[in-house]
Amino acid sequence: MKRRVFSGARPTGRQHLGNYLGAIQNYVALQDEYDCIYCIVDIHALTSLEDTGGLQKNIHEMMLDWLAAGLDPDRSILFVQSHVPEVMELHTLLSMVTPLGWLLRVPTFKEKAKLQPQNVNYGLVGYPVLMTADIVLYKGEVVPVGVDQEPHLELAREIARRFNNLFGYTFPEPEIKLTEFPLVLGLDGKEKMSKQLGNDIEIALSPEETVNRVMMAVTDPARRYRNDLGHPEICNIYRLQGYFNPLELDNIAEQCRSAKIGCVDCKMLLAQQINSSLEPFRERRTALAAKPQYIADVLADGAQRAQAIARETLREVKQRMGLL
Ligand code: SF4
Repeated sequence: MKRRVFSGARPTGRQHLGNYLGAIQNYVALQDEYDCIYCIVDIHALTSLEDTGGLQKNIHEMMLDWLAAGLDPDRSILFVQSHVPEVMELHTLLSMVTPLGWLLRVPTFKEKAKLQPQNVNYGLVGYPVLMTADIVLYKGEVVPVGVDQEPHLELAREIARRFNNLFGYTFPEPEIKLTEFPLVLGLDGKEKMSKQLGNDIEIALSPEETVNRVMMAVTDPARRYRNDLGHPEICNIYRLQGYFNPLELDNIAEQCRSAKIGCVDCKMLLAQQINSSLEPFRERRTALAAKPQYIADVLADGAQRAQAIARETLREVKQRMGLL
């Protein structure tokens, strides 16, 4: 029996390089070793979305990227969170065993409350309980996350442990699996790459659009003129070269430090490498985009398979809690 991986991601639409390097590539690789369940968490998105008009389109575009990148519906369960409503029932049951103090201490709750003071809803506080329900409903044993999600995972482990202590062993405590490249900076070179911040490069862009986006990136601020000596260690373009052009990395560092290469040439080199490495992905994506019904079928099948597991877990939980 393979161990089970669970991971969820918000429906942010077309994915960017940060999603690709930090999560999607990892999701694809994990399929070889684990029994994988990947979910688009649309209910979580409601905690901060005031306009939900684009939600369905975002789900569709995101699934297109996932499938084109190599997520395989024959090897993984791919579905949308709200298509398996059992998760909301388990969320309510888990909320009864989760002390409020644990939730109010979560740093991201305080950050979110500051970011959207006009909309500090219950969902923001209960977010880690819903996230725990997402994982334990499918008895997820391993959860691949970036470092920023670590506190939530710790809390999920605590909630699962508390439930097990109160009602008997039911849930495995989900293990954290940190991704290899957890933090990809955006074009500003300061913040994490994010669609909201507008500092991203979408993987489905055309080669020309990719060149244009890369050219907008901030590099070493000390290199104001072509002949200024560079400091690759503080340059985000250099970090990205490490991913897309690893064999040239030492050479680029040496040329940057001695000003033998300018930032425009360096960026062009990176953009070309990104384009050639994403070419097969883009071809698959174009082919999949021509079959919208296929995406709907994958999600329907994924929801059906996920729901079979969810119903079984929920029945067990209710029995343990004395509800059946
Ligand atoms: S040459 Fe390349 S690595 Fe050096 S500062 Fe410019 S973009 Fe960054």
